[in-house]
Amino acid sequence: MHTVPPCKYGTWRLGPMRNTTRFAEPARFREGLYTLHGGAHAWMVPNGAWGETNLGVIIGDGTSVLIDTCWDPALMQEVMSHIAPAIANAPIEIVINTHADGDHCWGNQLFHDKQIIGSDACIAQMKHYHPRSLSALKNAGKLLRHIPFAGINCFGHYMSEMFAPYDFSKVCITLPTHGFQEKKLLRIGNTELIIFNVGPGHTDGDSLVYLPQEKVVYAGDILFADCTPVMWSGPVGNLIKALETLRHLDANVIVPGHGRLANNRDVTAAIQYWQFAEDQLYRCYQQNMTPFDAARSVLHSPQFLSSPFAHWDSPERILTNAYGLYREWGARLTNLPEKLNVMNILRQQAMLAFSVPTATPKIMRHRLGWAQTH
Ligand SMILES: [Zn+2]
Repeated sequence: MHTVPPCKYGTWRLGPMRNTTRFAEPARFREGLYTLHGGAHAWMVPNGAWGETNLGVIIGDGTSVLIDTCWDPALMQEVMSHIAPAIANAPIEIVINTHADGDHCWGNQLFHDKQIIGSDACIAQMKHYHPRSLSALKNAGKLLRHIPFAGINCFGHYMSEMFAPYDFSKVCITLPTHGFQEKKLLRIGNTELIIFNVGPGHTDGDSLVYLPQEKVVYAGDILFADCTPVMWSGPVGNLIKALETLRHLDANVIVPGHGRLANNRDVTAAIQYWQFAEDQLYRCYQQNMTPFDAARSVLHSPQFLSSPFAHWDSPERILTNAYGLYREWGARLTNLPEKLNVMNILRQQAMLAFSVPTATPKIMRHRLGWAQTH
């Protein structure tokens, strides 16, 4: 039986006794609530792939703060029932959303009567995401995986596996009640929280939540640990600047949006990933390669394969990153309407995923023979 390795930066307190992830991978760390320092806690979800989102829990004297919610209300409810004994004397009164991606705010409805905080840019973007379109895509994926044409079967398989652990049908978008522009200070008992909006980068508004006395930062999706980062909004220069801001805070423990507990070495690795992606993809751009050919060429290059990034989850995300960078460099890529364009990028990302069958999560990139018999 697989034994989950212990964690260096925090102490596991409680959680479910699973040793595999939602995508049937061996867990690289234990799921559950970790004490980091004083009242600073994190709910960690192995291994940090799609929707395996980490949350922050700051347990104060009589009041607690939750940082981010899950991708669906049922998962959020499950976390709440696990942490109930830990917050029995300090119920959650404030929720902070680091950014607008559904896997960080679609459990908000459980806190509809509480104060919810997000940057103005995050709130504006949240209004544009619709759970119904993901439910439709989840259902369509089950059919599309049987169409062996133009990578549609890869796309169908990839999307249906990505969404299989989640139920978007009950999600009711619940927006933050309190916005801010750049910086917001909060005090919960003796704990001081500073929220910085360092976006746009990963999304339009990306917040870091910094606890200066505890030397802990909740980084949202500005940082991924052992998982390939994604840039939906850009520009990359601002994303690197955000990582430099994070590094400058010099925290002892960083809770990334996805992946294990981290520190400044992981921030440096993330900066190196973006610099590497930018350099390698720009070379391809200058050779008039399409974003798909560029991403495929980088992913299979000796430079990439000998880098630490080759061992990170979901390496195919370089395709989305290539599209973002090409846009920054002024490439005219498509005349497709925005939603179809996103679908097209994900179709290509799925095709790329199938070209690296050894990468994790494995279930999303099985050979099609496997997909067709399931
Ligand atoms: Zn996320």
